[in-house]
Amino acid sequence: MIVALKANVSKERKHQLIEWLESMGLTVHVSEGMYQTVLGLVGDTNKVDMDLVASLDIVDTVKRVSEPFKCCNRKFHPEDTVVEIGDVKIGSGHFCMIAGPCSVESEEQIVGIAKAVKASGANMLRGGAFKPRTSPYDFQGLKATGLELLKIARRETGLPIVTEIMSVTDLPLFDDVDVLQVGARNMQNFDLLQELGRLHKPILLKRGLANTLKELLMSAEYIMANGNEQIILCERGIRTFDDYTRNTLDLAAVPMLHELTHLPVIVDPSHATGIARLVPPMALAAAAGGADGLIIEVHNDPLHALCDGAQSLRPEEYDVLAGRIRAVREAVR
Ligand code: PEP
Ligand code: MN
Repeated sequence: MIVALKANVSKERKHQLIEWLESMGLTVHVSEGMYQTVLGLVGDTNKVDMDLVASLDIVDTVKRVSEPFKCCNRKFHPEDTVVEIGDVKIGSGHFCMIAGPCSVESEEQIVGIAKAVKASGANMLRGGAFKPRTSPYDFQGLKATGLELLKIARRETGLPIVTEIMSVTDLPLFDDVDVLQVGARNMQNFDLLQELGRLHKPILLKRGLANTLKELLMSAEYIMANGNEQIILCERGIRTFDDYTRNTLDLAAVPMLHELTHLPVIVDPSHATGIARLVPPMALAAAAGGADGLIIEVHNDPLHALCDGAQSLRPEEYDVLAGRIRAVREAVR
C-alpha cells in the first residue's frame, strides 16, 4: 500500500502517522520528495482501513498495490483451476454447457427439457427450485419438490444438476445436488458464502446485479477461505442505464477475470439480455471470447413458462445454437 502525504506536513505529524502504521505490524519505507513524502507500507496491509488512512488531513492519496483477494488470486496460483463434477470438467480448456429451464415446473417439463438439451450436447442441467423473485406474488419455485424432480431428471439423463440455494437454512435439502448456485441477489450473502465454504461441493457464484469484479472475487474468497476451492464464476450481466436489455453483458469481465483469478468463468447470456433472440449472438461472443462455459435457459413452452419465458430458447433453437457454439470454439482454438 502506498500513502502519499500532502505537501508541507510537519515532521511531527509525519512521525505520528508512521508510528501508528508501525503499531499495526507494518514496515514503513519513507521516500522524501521535493514537495511530497510517500510512504510504502510492507506487511499484511489487509488489516489497514484504507478509507481511514485516506480521511486523515495530512494524507493526499492512498493506493493498494496488492489485491485483497488471496486464495482466488492467480498471482499465488498461476495454473487454471479445473472444477470437476463427475465426468464433467470446467476450466483450462474444458468447456461446459449448462442448460435447462429457469424454474422446475413439473416432472414432465424438466425430464423432457433435460433429454432435449442432452441430445444437443449440454453436459449439465439447470433448473430453479427456490426462486429469488422480485415480487413476492410471483411463482416462488417448487422448492423441495423441485429438487426431487431435478433428481429424477438426473436419473433419466445422467446430467449433473445445478440449482440455486437462497438460504443457509435450506442447506440440508441440497445434500444430493451436484452444483449449488449462488444467485446474483445473494452474491454478498456472507453467511451463506461461509457455509458453502465448508462444503465439498462445486459452487456456481454469479456476479451481483451491481457488483464490481473485485467484489465478486471477494465473495469467492469468502467461500475459499473456509476451505472450498471448487468455484465457478459467472458473468450474468450488470445493471446499467440502458433498458433495452434486462442487464448489460460485461463480456470484458471474462478475460479480465482470467487475468485476476485461476477460477473458471462462465457466461449466462439469458439473464444478461432477457431477450431470447439476443441469447445466441451473446453466447457465441462469449464462447469466442474465452468463457469456460455457458449457462442458458431453455423451455419447451416459453409462452407459458412460470418464470423468464421471454429469455428462454426452445429446445430446437438451443440445438442450433449448440452446434454453432461448437463451430466457434473450433474456429478460435
Ligand atoms: C437464475 O439463474 O435463474 C437466476 C435467478 O439468475 P440470477 O441470479 O443471475 O438473476
Ligand atoms: Mn431465470
